[in-house]
Amino acid sequence: MRRARWHVRCCRLLSVGDNQIIHIPNSKFSPPRRDPATSHSKEAGQIQFDLIVIGGGPAGLMAAGRAAESGARVFLLEKNFAAGRKLLMTGNGRCNVTQKEDNIRDLVKKYRNGAFLFSAFHAFGPRQVIEFFEECGVRTKEEELQRVFPVSDKAVDVLNALLDYLKAGKVTIKYDATVKRIEAKDGHIDTVVLSDGTKLAAKKIILSVGGQSYPSTGSTGDGWKWLRDLGHNVIDPKPALVPLKVKEEWAKEIKGVSLKDVEVKVIQNKKTIAKTTGDFIFTHFGVSGPAILTVSREAVAALGMTEGHDSNGMSVRLQIDLLPELSVEKVDGHLSAASKESAAKSAKHILDGLTSARLAEMLIKLAKIDPRKQCGQIMKAERQMLVTLLKSLTLTVTGSLGFEVAMVTSGGVDIKEVDPKTMQSKLIDNLFFAGEVLDVDGPTGGYNLQMCWSTGFAAGSSV
Ligand SMILES: Cc1cc2nc3c(=O)[nH]c(=O)nc-3n(C[C@H](O)[C@H](O)[C@H](O)COP(=O)(O)OP(=O)(O)OC[C@H]3O[C@@H](n4cnc5c(N)ncnc54)[C@H](O)[C@@H]3O)c2cc1C
Repeated sequence: MRRARWHVRCCRLLSVGDNQIIHIPNSKFSPPRRDPATSHSKEAGQIQFDLIVIGGGPAGLMAAGRAAESGARVFLLEKNFAAGRKLLMTGNGRCNVTQKEDNIRDLVKKYRNGAFLFSAFHAFGPRQVIEFFEECGVRTKEEELQRVFPVSDKAVDVLNALLDYLKAGKVTIKYDATVKRIEAKDGHIDTVVLSDGTKLAAKKIILSVGGQSYPSTGSTGDGWKWLRDLGHNVIDPKPALVPLKVKEEWAKEIKGVSLKDVEVKVIQNKKTIAKTTGDFIFTHFGVSGPAILTVSREAVAALGMTEGHDSNGMSVRLQIDLLPELSVEKVDGHLSAASKESAAKSAKHILDGLTSARLAEMLIKLAKIDPRKQCGQIMKAERQMLVTLLKSLTLTVTGSLGFEVAMVTSGGVDIKEVDPKTMQSKLIDNLFFAGEVLDVDGPTGGYNLQMCWSTGFAAGSSV
């Protein structure tokens, strides 16, 4: 049944002409075609549609295309001059389009508030997303850690496939259209107001304005204020999947040193609040890399920051196990053997085979071992200090690089106020949500786009 629908989609794509998405220049507005089944009366200064989608990122594009495929007359408003600006940056321009985890129960566990996504993933999970893009002409491939990319390695191919999908559904797109506010009466949105004063109305509204991360792409957290004014609870937005700043100057001195498969723990008041294993890099401000991005949400939350630029004084530490595969005893045994085998070599060589040369020099310094000493002269207490550093290297988190470079926003519309099957607001009857505007976020690896496709599909199917 589903395959038949995909087939129809592709046939429609092929048969559609190039001029069917209407790009409306600034402040010049052409009303879309009207048909008796869906058109509404036109009030002074107001034009009405079946559906207005606010925000042309991955979630909004999927929602608009899906609703149009189901027969709705859709109007998409995007503040930029083009859609999907952030989408083009994903996966370093390659777009990690999804995470190939077919077990939905396991998949939802990877997200904060993941249970909310269960129905949406069930209806349109990674398998369906891959099918969708393949049938739109974007062949995909699976890489390390089940990450799925287009074979072409081009995010623009993903964006173009979505724009073709909208074209097939005759979605009208208005670029350079910033929504300034939405107005509701009796629990129902009746007007969408643009910054140029244009007023629009529709039976239903899908809000897909994203979060606050990478504001240069257009995601400036516009939705939060409107939603609070409408009575929705918005969980305080914080940067997530973001590099962290640390206090220790020595860490900055070895910028560029990268580590593979280390274990990173976030410790607050002696308690481990997050833990992961992955790659890690020292930078000129602190630390980054997949392992840091993964635990950054908890570190940022523990610091109680909203902007990510300073700490409130709480002690939040990173504890790094550089050799998670080896026990403390094994590491000590290895160093003990190395001190004999390389007895005449300079101290840093005791770490040969365990760390890079630059990090070894720094660890010798941190252990307060005279670098001119020979391996054979290293005392037991000094060796034990090296073991401690290798197994639990400690850094103090002072902040994050903030929303400017965070890959996602943690926080957003309280999911308790949203129907997980339809993405409909429980407070405003004609309001639906899709994507990062919701208080759900996942780790790196295609999880966040998958969430956008699924919630976009659910919202688009419900209107
Ligand atoms: C550098 C980077 C790399 C990433 N790589 C990956 C990856 O490989 N895989 C992955 O799964 N995730 C990745 N992500 C995360 C992913 O890009 C986001 O989760 C996703 O883009 C969120 O989609 P969205 O549609 O909800 O919001 P957005 O993509 O933020 O789109 C929201 C849209 O709404 C528009 N808008 C906002 N306010 C208004 C307004 N007032 N009026 C009109 N329009 C408005 C914006 O201009 C924007 O176009 C990455 C993020 C970044 C920053």
